[in-house]
Parts: sequence; structure tokens; C-alpha cells
Amino acid sequence: MADEGYFQPREETLPVDELRQLQAQRLREVISYVYANSPVQKRRFDETGIAPGDIKGLEDIAKLPFMDKDDFRKYYPLGLACVESQRIIEMHMSSGSTGIPVVMPYTPADIKQWGECTARCYSMAGAVAGDVAQITPSFGLFNGGFGFYHGARELGLFIIPTGAGNTARQIRLAQDFKTRILTGVVSYATRIIELLEEEGSSLPSLEIGIFGAETFSESMKKKIAAAFNIDKVFDIYGMTETGGVGTLGMDCPAHDGIHLWEDHYIVEILALNENKPVAEGEMGELVLTSLTREALPVIRFRTGDLTRIISRDKCGCGRTHVRIAPITGRVDDMLIVKGVNFFPRQVEHALMEIPGVKPHYQIIIEDNDGIKDVRINVEADESVTGYMVEKHLKEALGFSPKGDVFKPGELPRQAGKAQRVFYKNNNEA
Ligand SMILES: [Zn+2]
Repeated sequence: MADEGYFQPREETLPVDELRQLQAQRLREVISYVYANSPVQKRRFDETGIAPGDIKGLEDIAKLPFMDKDDFRKYYPLGLACVESQRIIEMHMSSGSTGIPVVMPYTPADIKQWGECTARCYSMAGAVAGDVAQITPSFGLFNGGFGFYHGARELGLFIIPTGAGNTARQIRLAQDFKTRILTGVVSYATRIIELLEEEGSSLPSLEIGIFGAETFSESMKKKIAAAFNIDKVFDIYGMTETGGVGTLGMDCPAHDGIHLWEDHYIVEILALNENKPVAEGEMGELVLTSLTREALPVIRFRTGDLTRIISRDKCGCGRTHVRIAPITGRVDDMLIVKGVNFFPRQVEHALMEIPGVKPHYQIIIEDNDGIKDVRINVEADESVTGYMVEKHLKEALGFSPKGDVFKPGELPRQAGKAQRVFYKNNNEA
């Protein structure tokens, strides 16, 4: 293959048995490190009766206690860190519904790790040094802007750090500087597309789109690729707790699952609300252990993201790192209406299959005196009727949400990550 696009060929194609040995060695190291350097983590291990010497092989990971978002909040701001604050050079954070944010600190080594993981993603998408990359997530506490930036620096891209907003200027810069690679949150790609359509304009130099941080269904991916007239659209993955966008991985040109960088993270899939692994290939909660981070490695972090292993075999692209299914949703995103379980991603996928439907939609869960109902609002061309939307959703989801069709531009837009699900309480007080 001529264009494997490896950034770190040896690490990305390490034979599986060597990869497992490396993971086991790094697991032993990180557990000893965390035990010695984080009093909070040491106490958690002690409470479980676990000492670093008990961790000999990969299978021993099951002995370790879990972490979740609540631990980050409980020990806000830097209680989980393994280093003194003088060694921290950057931080990012995400806010949750509870108000106390999740904070991730970085040492210089962590920024290097982040940059290399994200550079692998750029490279896997077909980027080469000197390419023009436009980075549209905000440069701030959200990790998106800086994650794409650190990766682009590693690879040597020509960075246009536009950050979020001012879509008209984004388009002008992309045209003037011949942007080849566009990065952003999924819904921002759709904002750019919308304005291009209004202007009757295009981005002729664009070849690669790398998007993430939101629900990203296959049909949405196709819609974005068609609108930009490109064939390379990728789903990048990472989160604040693992060190940000790109730390975890991305789909490769084979688009047969998302590769997770297993030399940096151990991947477990656990049964919902249980502490035992699912059978290989079954859906469950993704649990991650960071092997190479310095300021705040997570140990058995319950991500809340639902996925399944697609394959642990070597991929057609030559990479040996595990492939998981695109994230179906979050454990707490699962919606139950009239006894049917579904995820926002399934709604998105079904909607985007309807010709004439635009990539702007809302899922509204209404509570009428304890009885839940769901209403789907979507923007579409005049050719699309509410009946068509309802009929298609019934076929796809197995129940009938009410569907209201809006003209393009009528639904509200948000800066940053899009809110797709809304709750409305119609109960009598
Ligand atoms: Zn691959």
C-alpha cells in the first residue's frame, strides 16, 4: 500500500502479541506511578486491598477500582493529579450538568502524547506536512481547538487557527488559503455547509474533513461528504478525561470502526451497570485506562459511552489497534419512550436517510403527567412532509414519534457543541 499514512509506523502496526506485552508492562508501570504519586488514588487502592505488586498481567486490571466523572468532581480542581502544579503547563475542562467541571491538567510530556496521538489521526486521514488545516473548534477550555492544534504542530501542517464562529470569515479564509483539511465539531460542519449553500459557493481545495465531539451517524457522514464534495470524512474520538480530542483515535480509510490507540490506552467493554466484561463483540460501556499520561492518568475510567468491539485483528490499513463501533450514545443518553429504548444517534441516522432533510434537528421528550412522548423537529426542503418523516421514523425506530417539519434556518443554532435533545415537562404543578 502506498498511502498507509502512518505517523508512527512501528507503534501503529506493532504485532498484536507485542502490543499486549507493551500494554502489560505499561499497566504495571502506571499503577506503581499512580500509587506513589497520587494520595487519593493510593487510598482508593488501599481500600480495595490492592497493591501495585498484585498487578502482573493485563488480566489483573479487573482487580482495580473504577473511576468516573464523579471522582473528577469530588476531587476538583487537582486532587486526582500525580504531579505538583508547578509541573503543569496547560489545562482543559468540560462542564457537566451538575455544575462542577471535569479538569484535565497536562505536563509537557502529556502535550507531546496528545500531539502524537492526534498527528496519527491527521496522518491516517491522508494529511501530510505542509497541508493547510483549518481548526474551527474554540481555543479555550474546551479541548477541541488545542487538540487539533497540538496534533497539527506535530505533523507540521500549515495551521489556520480560526477557532469557533464567524462562519462567513471561515469560508473566505478556507477559499483564500486553500484549506485542504477542515476540523471541527460535527454540527459546525453543517453550519458551514448551510452558509455555502446560501452563498452558492464552495470550498474547492477541501479534501479531508475530520469531525467529532457529537453524535455522528453514518448517514450524517455521507450528507457532509456529499455537501462538501469530498470523499474523506472521519470520526475522531477523545474526551477531556483521556486528554482530549484525538487521544483515543479515529476511523481509518477502511472506515470499518474506530481505531483506539492501544499503546496509550487499555480498552475494556463492560456490561451496563455491571462490573463484568461483555462477551466479545457485544454492546457495553467503554472503560479506559491511560498508560502513558503523566499529570493525571485515568485508571478504569467509566466513560459512559456505549460501543462494541468490531475487531481486534489487524485491519486492512495495516494497523493492529482494536476497532470499536462509532459511539452509539451515552449510558445516560438512552431514551425510553413507550417502552422502546433508543439513542439520539439512531434518530439522526433515520432522519438523514430521508432525501431533502437538512442536518438540523431536535429531539424533544415531553412528559405529560408521567407519560413520556417524543417529538422530532427537523428542517427540510418543501418536498418533505411531516407524514413522510413520521412514517420513516416508525419504520426505523419501531414506534411513532410526532414529526414537525421546519423550513431551513428555522430551528435555533448553538455555538460550540449542538444540543439535540430537549426535555419539556407538561405536568400540572
Ligand atoms: Zn484500519
